[in-house]
Amino acid sequence: MNERTLIIIKPDGMQRRLAGEIIGRFEKKGLKIVAAKFLQIGLELAKKHYAVHKGKDFFDGAVKYISSGPVLVMVLEGEKVIEITRKMMGATFGYNAEPGTIRGDFGTSQTFNLIHGSDSPETAKYEIGLYFKPDEILDYQMPDQKWV
Ligand code: ATP
Ligand code: MG
Repeated sequence: MNERTLIIIKPDGMQRRLAGEIIGRFEKKGLKIVAAKFLQIGLELAKKHYAVHKGKDFFDGAVKYISSGPVLVMVLEGEKVIEITRKMMGATFGYNAEPGTIRGDFGTSQTFNLIHGSDSPETAKYEIGLYFKPDEILDYQMPDQKWV
């Protein structure tokens, strides 16, 4: 069964011109982009995005950070795509993330960690619904699908 996940290249990822690098890693892995949007997340949407963290001490900071500049929001689809993308992102804090992962290779920060990825099928469903209408998610085949 194909799974979907919401990926966001966060403001620091865009400002540091790492979007191509990050998308390139997902493409080379064999993952498939089925939706994409470039926007600046408003405060209200940011609060909905991080609703699970409401009440935690880093909530305000996380909301402020993700709404601080343009971001690239994408839906990726494929078997086990949530597990795969979370592994490729690395641990939440740059200083903990293993080399070879996106956060491990490009950052050291506890807050500015370049990328967001949904952490479960339930979260993915909720998060995708915040950014995309059903008809903005495309259904198409790629020629190497049987190999990757
Ligand atoms: P994301 O949800 O953005 O993909 P994550 O799932 O790895 O990241 P979460 O625990 O969901 O991590 O935290 C959401 C975001 O809040 C983190 O990406 C980070 O920017 C920020 N954050 C989390 N914990 C802390 C903390 N202790 N101090 C500062 N910022 C934090
Ligand atoms: Mg999270």
